[in-house]
Amino acid sequence: MSAPAPKVYGWCPGALRPMMSGDGLVVRIRAPMGRLSPEQAGAVAELSARYGNGLLDLSARANLQMRGIQESDHPNLIAALQDLGLVEADANAEARRNILLTPFWRSGDRSHQIAQRLAALLSDATTLDLPGKFGFAVDAGEAPVLQATAADIRIEGDGDRLMLRADGADVALEVTETEAATQALALARWFLEQGGASEGRGRMHALISRRGAPDTHGADVAKGAPLPAPGLTRNGALVALEFGQIHATTLAALAKHSALRLTPWRMMLVEDAQDIAPLPGLILGATDPRLQVSVCTGAPGCLQALSQTRDLARDLAPHLQAGTHLHVSGCAKGCAHPQPADVTLTATGTDRFDLIRKGRASDAPLRSDLTARTLRAAPHILTKDT
Ligand code: SF4
Repeated sequence: MSAPAPKVYGWCPGALRPMMSGDGLVVRIRAPMGRLSPEQAGAVAELSARYGNGLLDLSARANLQMRGIQESDHPNLIAALQDLGLVEADANAEARRNILLTPFWRSGDRSHQIAQRLAALLSDATTLDLPGKFGFAVDAGEAPVLQATAADIRIEGDGDRLMLRADGADVALEVTETEAATQALALARWFLEQGGASEGRGRMHALISRRGAPDTHGADVAKGAPLPAPGLTRNGALVALEFGQIHATTLAALAKHSALRLTPWRMMLVEDAQDIAPLPGLILGATDPRLQVSVCTGAPGCLQALSQTRDLARDLAPHLQAGTHLHVSGCAKGCAHPQPADVTLTATGTDRFDLIRKGRASDAPLRSDLTARTLRAAPHILTKDT
């Protein structure tokens, strides 16, 4: 019997519009400027333990998602998050403020200034009816670091210059720092005028592949910087979260060091920190094999999951060859890694997995008879050729 087709949602859950999951509501915190002060981070940890199950996910859009919230506790949680300045009063305004800011910004630099301007413009743009997942990347350091992260409109640094780019386009528009935010908003309106959105869905790259970039765009695209790894940076210490999840007690301990920047790379940047002591679920070294694994929530946290995923991923990680990317998916939707991976294990039933090589979670399997026990007993199955 084939596995049921996964459900596709066209919207993103927010704090005010939470999504029901297998372990309760998921409440997303879209922290202004992607930053939590030590007080905010400590309070979020405390709220997660009080109202949730103590687990928080860091999403691919650098949002922190509190898990396991009971519906009856949601109003109290929202009130507390609003007191902390982490949730807006208006769900639509919060949904529009979908800005991903480079975690390496410094107070008052051009990334910070542009992001603040753009946030204010989006908050006021009440007639701008963009699809739920439509987002902006403000990535105006010397070279962009967010090119591998999903965004529809990008403001990218290129040395001293600034480039505005529609996602998917191979040309850009040079802009000044002062005009970057207004030009980004104009590009969002152009997207709507060109028919990029229908029924609340639509992404920029799909529009660009149909009709090409705006006629005024013709400048070269900024060349991206390599993806960062855990370790020291000019802005502090980057620490990775095992499979993108952190426990409230670890978050509380981390908050004692300094303010935290949320990144789209399953990592947090601990501002100006030099030395972070090991904590449960934190990855401090760039060669840790768990960094080679993408894994979704799985059962019981996701209602669509057909099997448990995280414990299996943790047990298999040490057996991976260097450079091999493993994706463990609770169903064919492949949320944790929509792209092809070297090896993918897709759950097709309770403790039953397909093995796919060089493919996506929904691709045709090479084997479809695997259980977690078989994989743990013979992890070489992952890397051998058959
Ligand atoms: S891929 Fe994982 S998180 Fe996504 S719907 Fe399937 S089980 Fe849930």
